[in-house]
Amino acid sequence: MPVDATVAYDPENIFARILRGEIPCSKVYEDEHALAFHDINPQAPQHILVIPKGAYVSWDDFSSKASEAEIAGFVRAVGRIARDAGLVEPGYRLLANTGPDSHQEVPHLHVHIFGGRPLGPMLA
Ligand code: C5P
Repeated sequence: MPVDATVAYDPENIFARILRGEIPCSKVYEDEHALAFHDINPQAPQHILVIPKGAYVSWDDFSSKASEAEIAGFVRAVGRIARDAGLVEPGYRLLANTGPDSHQEVPHLHVHIFGGRPLGPMLA
């Protein structure tokens, strides 16, 4: 079900449960600000999700409420994860679905990293 980017944070959402270690994930990276894991339904040979440690529903929620340190730490982590996955030279795509029109399904901000094949033109 697509979610509203402006709803209150639900601490029982699946990514909150992954952050608390209640549900396993295929971890790629973790630091103070971010956790990254392989998407369970990959849409490319490399499909990694990066989530902030803080309780933010969406990119809108995060970009308006997170501290400078959280934002800087998260953005740097996304870049590092893509770099460590060897994706800089062939290239990669970042995507953060936000709100119902985007079809955001999990109400905890996540940035998708896609790579490992030519990705074609941007989706509309
Ligand atoms: O951007 P959107 O909210 O649509 O993406 C959610 C993503 O979370 C999907 O790609 C889905 O495969 C992934 N997912 C996951 N592990 C879960 C639940 C969802 O990797 N336990």
